[in-house]
Amino acid sequence: MNLNSVREQLVPADCLSGFPLTLNTSPNFCPPGADTGRVENRHRRIPVPMRINLARALLCAMGALVLVGAFPAREPQPCVEPLPIRIGSVDPRFGIDADDLSAAIGQASDVWSTAAHRPLFRVSPDAELTINLIYDWRQKTTVKDRGLKKQIDTLVAAMATLDRELDRGKASTEAMRRAYERDLADYNAEVQAVNDAGGAAAGQYHDMELRGQELDAQRARLNAHVARVNALVDRHNDIKIQIDRLVSTINGDGLAGNEIRKGLYAPRNGHPTIEIYQFSDLADLALVLAHEMGHALGIRHNDNPHAIMSPLLQDASLVLKPQDRQGLRDACGV
Ligand SMILES: [Zn+2]
Repeated sequence: MNLNSVREQLVPADCLSGFPLTLNTSPNFCPPGADTGRVENRHRRIPVPMRINLARALLCAMGALVLVGAFPAREPQPCVEPLPIRIGSVDPRFGIDADDLSAAIGQASDVWSTAAHRPLFRVSPDAELTINLIYDWRQKTTVKDRGLKKQIDTLVAAMATLDRELDRGKASTEAMRRAYERDLADYNAEVQAVNDAGGAAAGQYHDMELRGQELDAQRARLNAHVARVNALVDRHNDIKIQIDRLVSTINGDGLAGNEIRKGLYAPRNGHPTIEIYQFSDLADLALVLAHEMGHALGIRHNDNPHAIMSPLLQDASLVLKPQDRQGLRDACGV
C-alpha cells in the first residue's frame, strides 16, 4: 500500500517572509515651510523633529518661532538707568503662575544686564513699559498640541515594545519553520523510498502514519505561531495609523511649519508695550521676553539664527551670541 506524503505547504511564502512590517518609518510630515508674509519680522514656528523611536516618524510640528516684532521704539535712554517694567494684563487662560512669569522676566532681564555689567531693567508698579500676555488661537493650539504629543509619545513607546516582541516572534517562527521543513523533507524522502520499494508493511505503515500525524500537528503549531506574530504586526500597524493621524492633526492646525508671531514690542495707546502671544514652555517664554525686552532697549534684529535677537527664534536659546552683544553695544554703548 502506498503512503501519502505530507506535502502541505506550511504557510504561504508571503505570510512568512512578508511580515507586513513595512512601516512607513520616516514619513516627513512637514509641509514646506510656509511663509505667511504677514509680518516683516516674523518669528517662524520651528518644525520640531520628534523622534518616534523605532518608527522614527518625524513630527515636524511643534516648534515655535519667535516672532519678535521689531519696532522703532521711541528713542529712550533705557541703558542709562534701569528701564522700569511691569506686568500688565495676563490672560488667565495661559494658566501661568505669577511667580513663574516673574521668574521668566527676571531671566530675560538678567541675560542683558549680565552682559552690560549693570542692571538694565527694574520692576516697578509705575512703569510705563508693560508686559501683557494676550491669549488667542496660538497658545490654545499650542496647549492642545502638547496633549496630542503626549498621546503620540505613549503610542510610540507601545510600538517600541511591540517591535521587540515582534523581533522575538519572527526569530522563533523562522526556527520553527526550518525545523518543520527539515522533518518534512526527511519524512517525504522516507515515504518515497518505501513506496519505491513496493509499499509499507502493516506495522511500518502504522508507524509512518503516526509520524505523518505528528508532522501535521507540528505544522499546525507553526501556523498558529505565525498567526500570533501576524496579529502583532496588525497591532503595530494600527498604532502607526493612530500616530499618523495625530501627527496630521498637529501639522494641520496652523502652527506647524508656519511662521507665527510669538511676541511683539510696540506702542499701545502711546505706551511701550510687550505683548506675548505664544510660548511652548517657561524657557521659551523667557526667550521671547528676552527678545522683546532687547527691543525695548533699542536692540535691533541680527542675522545669527541662534541669536536672541534673530527675527526667527527657532534655533535660538537664552544665551547671547556675539551679534546680540554687538546689538547691545550699538544700543547702549556697553
Ligand atoms: Zn524682534
